[in-house]
Amino acid sequence: MPEIVVISGKGGTGKTSLTAAFAHLAKAAVVCDLDVDAPDLHLILQPEIETRQDFFSGHEAIIDPADCTRCGLCADVCRYQAVISASGGFSINPLKCEGCKVCVHFCPAQAIRFPERHCGRWFLSRTRFGPLVHAQLFPGAENSGRLVALLRQKARELASQTGRTLILSDGSPGIGCPVISSLTGTDAAVLVTEPTPSGLHDLQRVADLCRHFTIPIGVIVNKADLNPETTEAVQRWCEAENADFLGALPYDPAVTEAMVRRQAVTEFSDNGSSAPIRMVWARIVEQMQRTRSPRTAVTAAPVK
Ligand code: SF4
Ligand code: SF4
Repeated sequence: MPEIVVISGKGGTGKTSLTAAFAHLAKAAVVCDLDVDAPDLHLILQPEIETRQDFFSGHEAIIDPADCTRCGLCADVCRYQAVISASGGFSINPLKCEGCKVCVHFCPAQAIRFPERHCGRWFLSRTRFGPLVHAQLFPGAENSGRLVALLRQKARELASQTGRTLILSDGSPGIGCPVISSLTGTDAAVLVTEPTPSGLHDLQRVADLCRHFTIPIGVIVNKADLNPETTEAVQRWCEAENADFLGALPYDPAVTEAMVRRQAVTEFSDNGSSAPIRMVWARIVEQMQRTRSPRTAVTAAPVK
């Protein structure tokens, strides 16, 4: 099952708007929002949630006041200062608790419970572009990489159940744990950048990460006409690094207008950036087909 992940070295490059347009153009994809810390693809795709599941990861310590003898040993042994002493009693700050279980081990009264930590929720949804797999981590919750891995597994299951021939994912910005989890074992990464020196720098960082995992990359410069010189610098860098330059998209106010109307820009308008986005998508599909067997060939809408 071919998997493509759209990533960027930083936020604000237009990655999610582009993923929504690709989801519109791909006729047989399971779409996956892997930006679990701050998902926003659902704002455009307007999913109808069909399955909602809690996500648990790690453990947290919770003191049962009924059993606690208030000896204070847990506060002494906790290296993270997570145990709070107030009004003569003890409780645990969940934001500071690292789930190391030391307090549980030393508590002489067995007054500390150690349940799994409820970190967020994940969803299987229906959208006008096909199935969407998405999630929301709670603020401050950790293990986003594990949740990303879970979403990818659910997307693969959904794709094989529904006969879909592609998994198209919107990755997280940056190069951290959720991005690494998005990339491992994927077939190709589409890197979206903007034509600024910091955009080029962040592109190089995320490209290094892809290279580490031997993931083929393609590069798109968004709002390319705002700085043609840096766009050319990105193109030269792609040539030097043997990276596919997929295309340069113009700055297009219709992208924001489409977003306000909860539409992909390719749904909203045939002008502006829509035609170049269709060409870029056709190029991505062509490259995927070239590197895969006909059985798993990706389908796409015809380029207008
Ligand atoms: S170690 Fe156990 S009994 Fe002592 S204060 Fe902590 S929770 Fe209460
Ligand atoms: S589990 Fe570890 S981090 Fe959490 S309160 Fe106990 S000792 Fe502190």
